[in-house]
Amino acid sequence: MKLPDFKTFVLETPLYEVFALQELISSKDIDALYHYLQSLKNINYPIDIFCTECQKDSTFRQSNNFVLRFNGPNYVSSGENDIFMVELSCTRNQSHHLYFIFRVFNKTISKIGQHHSIADINIEFIKKYKKVLGNDRFKEFSKAIGLVTHGVGIGSFVYLRRIFEGLIFDAYEHIKGEVTIGEFRSKRMEEKIELLKNYLPNFLVENKNLYSILSVGIHSLTENDCLNYFQTVKIGIELILDEKIDELNKKEKMELIKKSLGTITSEIKK
Ligand SMILES: [Zn+2]
Repeated sequence: MKLPDFKTFVLETPLYEVFALQELISSKDIDALYHYLQSLKNINYPIDIFCTECQKDSTFRQSNNFVLRFNGPNYVSSGENDIFMVELSCTRNQSHHLYFIFRVFNKTISKIGQHHSIADINIEFIKKYKKVLGNDRFKEFSKAIGLVTHGVGIGSFVYLRRIFEGLIFDAYEHIKGEVTIGEFRSKRMEEKIELLKNYLPNFLVENKNLYSILSVGIHSLTENDCLNYFQTVKIGIELILDEKIDELNKKEKMELIKKSLGTITSEIKK
């Protein structure tokens, strides 16, 4: 299993998932383990994360790190028994903090604590999609994220797949004069996306093979397949929703300007 970098560890990896450090310990580079642990302890670059307190996308920087348990000078080479916490602060408001606790134990590493939770950060982030998703689909989207942050792959993927398919069927409305619903249903996800290429974000159309996993029967997917594909499908959903929000905002602006132009015209006439 590939070792996650800091951002993947804190924003996507469930608590208690255990990663072996053996490869680094037996690596030719005797400092490999040291460098990896340092890359989790000392974050000298900004990280974009949704701030649940500002209620906005924000940038966080490391403000502190604490060693909670340290087991002697050899820990770096042996990969044994070290617990440390990393604190990040929001650059909009220094009193907004995020905390992450890591445990190095018996040549493995896992994240054993986190505040705010991945689910909180992600669910606050997706709230902006509520107005284009509607209540039911929004609930399913939140559930999917809540489940995946607890390492539940298949369950979360089922929700995500339902939402993705729902959005694809919404887009079908544009071509219903040309393709019957029966024909549309019988097509694979890649073919559906191709048919809808004028009505879906370019990224989705150009990378439609990524979404072919959505045609695979849920029985043939493993827990790990689902966890691995989750982010990709989620980003696909967010892209569709981002476009819907843009369209809605444009429409609202146009209605506003129509109204004020109407008022101006009638004032000029007076
Ligand atoms: Zn903040």
